[in-house]
Amino acid sequence: MAKITLSHVVKAYTNEVKAVDDLNLEIQDGEFMVLVGPSGCGKSTALRMIAGLEDITGGEISIGDRVVNNLAPKDRDIAMVFQNYALYPHMTVEQNLAFGLQLRGTPKPEIKKRVNDAAKMLGLEQFLKRKPAALSGGQRQRVAMGRAIVREPQAFLMDEPLSNLDAKLRVSMRASLNQLHDRLGVTTVYVTHDQIEAMTLGDRVCVLREGKLQQVDTPQNLFDNP
Ligand code: ADP
Ligand code: ADP
Repeated sequence: MAKITLSHVVKAYTNEVKAVDDLNLEIQDGEFMVLVGPSGCGKSTALRMIAGLEDITGGEISIGDRVVNNLAPKDRDIAMVFQNYALYPHMTVEQNLAFGLQLRGTPKPEIKKRVNDAAKMLGLEQFLKRKPAALSGGQRQRVAMGRAIVREPQAFLMDEPLSNLDAKLRVSMRASLNQLHDRLGVTTVYVTHDQIEAMTLGDRVCVLREGKLQQVDTPQNLFDNP
C-alpha cells in the first residue's frame, strides 16, 4: 500500500492542447480514488502517467516515498487492469494468473499459494484449468483482476475495467470490487466515465474537466453539493 501524489502534473500531446493541466491530487494509503469525467477529459492520460505508460510533460508523481517520473512501469510496483482484459488466449486461467510471478522469479510454492488465494477470492476456483475462450466476460475480467492481485503491488490502477460488461454484470462486479477493496485495502486509482460507478466505488471521487481538476470529495459530499 502506498500514497500516490500528483503535483502540478501536466501532459501536452501537442502544443495547443493540454490533456492534463496542472493536476494536484493526493491519494491516501489504502484509498479507493475514482477519476471521473466526460470522454476526453484526461482520465486515462492521468492514469497512464501514474503507471508510467505515458511520459509526463511537467510536474511530479510519487508513489510511496519515491518520485517515479523517470521509473519504468515495471519498477513502479503497481498493477494495472484494462477494459480489454489482455489475457493470454493459449494459457489456462491458472497459467494466466501465475505468468507474471514466474517472470519475476517468485518461488513455485509461493506462486501456487497466491494463485489459489486469488482464485478463491474471485470465485474462479472451478475455472483454473479453462482457457479464456471458455469463460464469460465477467469471468475473464475476474481473471484480469486476479493477475493484478497475485502481484501484491503497492497500488492498483484500473482503466474502465467494467465497461465491456453488460449492465447486470457491472452491478455484481461493482459489489465484488467493493469487497476486494475492503479485504485487501490496496490503494486504487480507478478511471470511469460512469457516475454511478464512481459514486458506488470511490472513497473519494475526483471530477476532471478538460484536463483540470474540477472537484474532489467523498461521494456523499459530491451528491449533496453537485
Ligand atoms: P479520457 O480518458 O478522459 O477519455 P484521454 O486521457 O484519453 O481522456 O484524452 C485526453 C485528451 O488527450 C483528449 O483530447 C485526447 O484526444 C487526447 N489524447 C489522448 N491520447 C493522445 C495521444 N496519444 N496523442 C494525442 N492526443 C491524445
Ligand atoms: P480511451 O478513452 O479508453 O482511452 P480511446 O479510443 O479514446 O480510448 O483511446 C485509445 C488509444 O488512443 C489510447 O491509447 C489513447 O491514448 C490514444 N488516443 C486517444 N486520443 C488520441 C488522439 N487524439 N491522437 C492519438 N492517439 C489518441
